[in-house]
Amino acid sequence: MAADVARLSAQGVVPGLTVVLVGDDPASATYVGAKEKASKAAGMQGGTIRLPATTTQDELLALVERLNADPTVHGILVQMPLPRHIDPDTVIRHIRPEKDVDGFHPENVGKLLIGHTDGFVSCTPAGVIELLLRSGVDTRGAEAVVVGRSNIVGKPMAALLVQGRAGGDATVTVCHSRTRDLAFHTRRADILIAAIGRAEMITGDMIKPGAVVIDVGMNTKPDASKAKGTRLCGDVHFDSAVTVASKITPVPGGVGPMTIAMLLRNTVRAAELAMARTAALAGSR
Ligand code: NDP
Repeated sequence: MAADVARLSAQGVVPGLTVVLVGDDPASATYVGAKEKASKAAGMQGGTIRLPATTTQDELLALVERLNADPTVHGILVQMPLPRHIDPDTVIRHIRPEKDVDGFHPENVGKLLIGHTDGFVSCTPAGVIELLLRSGVDTRGAEAVVVGRSNIVGKPMAALLVQGRAGGDATVTVCHSRTRDLAFHTRRADILIAAIGRAEMITGDMIKPGAVVIDVGMNTKPDASKAKGTRLCGDVHFDSAVTVASKITPVPGGVGPMTIAMLLRNTVRAAELAMARTAALAGSR
């Protein structure tokens, strides 16, 4: 991404990403810090706007409007979850779709489902597809099982896997908390994607031998050997799964960094699209 940022900067446009953090949730602060660090390291401009938990919805919407109108801001990301008194859907709908680098705006979600490629795809599922492609995993005709149906991971993940293009063409099953006999489905998967939020729930005996396992989960579990008393773990029980799977992503270090890389990629694209719009406007004058 740094090479792309340098290329655009040489043409006079430095891709800009602004992250908005409301409140002091420690996990959100960590994620936002990682996004800010990565965007700076890639040479982008922007940064994080930190607001108190008492910020009203109107104040946040006014900030989003200001960022929508700022030509140096190509990507806007409002970190979720928001404090209870702010409706996340209202905020997401206020972000201009062409600056929605998180890919959460209904217009971008719709484009993803239809298969239009001019929108932004939610970063975590986009990162999973990139991992599969770069690892030489053939998704065509594969049985892909996604565990989890959230709007930010499970649903867009399934939508990507079913598209008729590279990284897609899979036969997709989506499981959730009401699924009867989860293991029956996971054991059929050539590609198993766990996005559940339950520490180490998928064990080796639930995985088909030779399957590719992508662990999206980011959970904590007690670990007396750590100063904090806890450690990060995924939704997959790594030690039992690694003996059965042909490929598996670790937690931390697998999907997490890819999510950030895709955020930078979306921001670079947002800057490129803004440049194209400016050029078209100049041409029509
Ligand atoms: P959500 O809580 O929004 O969704 C979890 C999904 O898992 C729901 O669809 C839920 O079903 C399903 N589920 C819960 N329990 C079970 C069960 N026992 N059996 C089958 N399905 C179950 O979580 P997210 O999608 O936001 O995140 C999932 C995980 O991924 C979390 O650990 C999160 O921290 C992590 N994450 C990691 C990212 C990264 O960059 N690495 C980015 C985003 C998330 P139902 O809908 O029925 O409730």
